[in-house]
Amino acid sequence: MRREALDAALEELRSLFPGKSKSWLRKAVLRLGDVKEGRDGSYRVEGRRELGDWKPVYLVWYSEEDGRWHCSCYFSHFGFARQRDVCTHVAAVMLYRRYKKALEKAERRRVYVAEGEVECRGRLEANGELYVKPAAEKIDLTFYASPKYKILVVSNTRRIVVKCNGLEILEMEGEEVQLATAKFLVERWHGR
Ligand SMILES: [Zn+2]
Repeated sequence: MRREALDAALEELRSLFPGKSKSWLRKAVLRLGDVKEGRDGSYRVEGRRELGDWKPVYLVWYSEEDGRWHCSCYFSHFGFARQRDVCTHVAAVMLYRRYKKALEKAERRRVYVAEGEVECRGRLEANGELYVKPAAEKIDLTFYASPKYKILVVSNTRRIVVKCNGLEILEMEGEEVQLATAKFLVERWHGR
């Protein structure tokens, strides 16, 4: 999911700046982890020597006046404005904002969740992510005689089907939840 979100964010940045080089984009990606969001809507980007930075941190902010992003690297030691080109600190911030948005969107995606109990001696599968644990607290001879499992399935479709050795053994109607909620349910389920 993180990979897809990053790809989507990169694609947006690429289409915004079609003239920019691959290394410009690569630097923006390398800086992604160095971006810190400030409370006032500005951003701090840690400097990296290997990317040619000479300061430990750069400040990036958006100006409503000219509708542009600015970076403290546009100013010299003496406060004179230098290059007006979009630096990779700004590129990193633009990428960061899009990446975050893409991740949030992915989290809001709807999925279906269902819990059940099955008996299966062999391979269990489902049309989604399948989580399995023994139904009994203790694994004893009874379990080996008739192995019962508690299952949880997170699926993209409402109708959830569980198979044992390729044969359908359970059909359930999933409950529609956000992906973030499903993740929470999976964690809680594992915790018993
Ligand atoms: Zn900069």
